Amino acid sequence: MTKPSLAVETLSICSGCEIAILDLHQALPGVLDAIDLKYIQVLMDFREPPKEGVTVGFVSGGVRNEEQVELLHKIRERSQILVAFGACSAFGGIPGLANLHTKDELLQEVYIDTVSTVNPKGVIPHKVVPPLLEEVHPISDFVKVDYVLPGCPPPPKLIAELVTCLLEGKEFRLEPKTVCDQCPLTKDEKSVTNFIRWGTKKIDPERCLLEQGFQCLGPVTQGGCEARCPTALAPCRGCFGPTESVHDQAAKMIGAIGSVVIQDPTKAPAPEQIVKEIPDLVGTYLRFSLAASTFKKALHTNVVKMKKGVKA
Ligand code: SF4
Ligand code: SF4
Ligand code: SF4
Repeated sequence: MTKPSLAVETLSICSGCEIAILDLHQALPGVLDAIDLKYIQVLMDFREPPKEGVTVGFVSGGVRNEEQVELLHKIRERSQILVAFGACSAFGGIPGLANLHTKDELLQEVYIDTVSTVNPKGVIPHKVVPPLLEEVHPISDFVKVDYVLPGCPPPPKLIAELVTCLLEGKEFRLEPKTVCDQCPLTKDEKSVTNFIRWGTKKIDPERCLLEQGFQCLGPVTQGGCEARCPTALAPCRGCFGPTESVHDQAAKMIGAIGSVVIQDPTKAPAPEQIVKEIPDLVGTYLRFSLAASTFKKALHTNVVKMKKGVKA
């Protein structure tokens, strides 16, 4: 019997997602027995998905340049089922934070302005590198996506579950739960008067980190990772992206702040005031999902205006 085949296409990545596949450990031989692994760049030295097509295509990484748009369309055409694999592919991921700057600003910084750059003629490479797009995109901006496996990187347990479902012809779906729903820490009272930087205060190992004043994105983040960060007493940074009902992590998180802040104005500033005082609001609330956020256009326009000295 012919085995189902798998191809993994990589776009703008750090390779962590591919390493997560190798982290399947004892499950890996079983997966490799059950599928015909046709293409994965971290293991094979060629750069073209198989022409004859595959059963399942994984795409890791967001879309940053024109060559990646072509590669993405090729793997979509050649895959019966396409999976957005990892936060970068699904939401733009951390590289999506580059969308706070224009393409020209990025090129200027990288090839001319950095202290370590020696480029007396100010040449920006354009002949042997694919042209950059104006911004980083999640792959769903260009092609139909059948399944999303979020995470930075996706946990090996979920990778194994997804592959098993696809091999057995079953639907794969993450439960509609947030990270908070799976978190073992106790959450019970409105107690925050201000937010504090991670690592600057002793942690109560039993109590919700958000209620201790740390920015934890558990309330607005899709569950499925078994709350692995708060379980280890580190705040959730949101790498599973928003749940279906949340849509936008930043908008919902600003609302969630109100649920833990003491509402008495004599004891604490208003939630809006607290939000205004959070340094790096975008990096805190949209670290993995800026490129897919409903805020992205407004943010980009305002950042460009601010840089031009126009009142936003
Ligand atoms: S999702 Fe995370 S691990 Fe995967 S490519 Fe992006 S940055 Fe790397
Ligand atoms: S906010 Fe964070 S620490 Fe608190 S319950 Fe949710 S996931 Fe756990
Ligand atoms: S707890 Fe949050 S940041 Fe940590 S793995 Fe889960 S979704 Fe990602």
